[in-house]
Amino acid sequence: MTQLFDSHAHVDGPEFDADRAEVLARARAAGVQRMIVIGAVGDPSSAERSVALAESDPNVWATVATHPHDVEKMTPEWWAVHERLAPHPRVVAIGETGLDYYYDHSPREAQKAVFERFIDLAHRVNKPVVCHIRDAHEDARAILIAGRAMELGVVIHCFTGTPDDARAYAELGCYVSFSGIITYKTAQPIRDSVPLVPRDRLLIETDCPYLAPIPKRGKRNEPAFVVHTAEVVASCAGMSYEDLAAQTVANTCRVFRLTSP
Ligand SMILES: [Zn+2]
Ligand SMILES: [Zn+2]
Repeated sequence: MTQLFDSHAHVDGPEFDADRAEVLARARAAGVQRMIVIGAVGDPSSAERSVALAESDPNVWATVATHPHDVEKMTPEWWAVHERLAPHPRVVAIGETGLDYYYDHSPREAQKAVFERFIDLAHRVNKPVVCHIRDAHEDARAILIAGRAMELGVVIHCFTGTPDDARAYAELGCYVSFSGIITYKTAQPIRDSVPLVPRDRLLIETDCPYLAPIPKRGKRNEPAFVVHTAEVVASCAGMSYEDLAAQTVANTCRVFRLTSP
């Protein structure tokens, strides 16, 4: 079966408490053998849960950070958890961290300061950075450049910018990850962005439980559904489904420094 790698899933969350084992089994049955679990939603219990999940499953790896929505709530204790977990061998990146000026749930100055501090943590543990950037692409690029984040590897997850933004990230050397949003009718600028990203920098993700792709839109998203996103990204990239699948698995392994299956 064609293998896919879900590069960004929140399967640690309470949305999956009732049926997590079944969700993971459905992913494997759909060819989604591997996934990166993003431990960054709300308080650091998300990071703790994600690392525990990665410890229990050889095809799951974790990231740790605090989402830009929640940075205003960060305490010294939250930082201590991230500092403790960041060097863990099953933690493959710092993230998701970044800037979200669309929701502005935390003040922008706090988002920027925390983004810079997580890039610094990534340098100290020598791991790549998974970035959540919404309506803040210029500020984000300035912080990534100033923080020399490209030396570590950078993923722009759930890309929602313009083709010009995609081109700018590609020129910088970022990996760009596409979610189920790319299947939505209104997402033509995102579809137009795919050919501007070099093939060896393309990633796919669910961002589950959010953003289920068409034809699952409105349902709880899960890693098995990344198949539908892969189909659309393949057609935008002018690639066969099988080639896009193999390319994105290889890319995900490269950026997160995993050995290819
Ligand atoms: Zn995000
Ligand atoms: Zn996410």
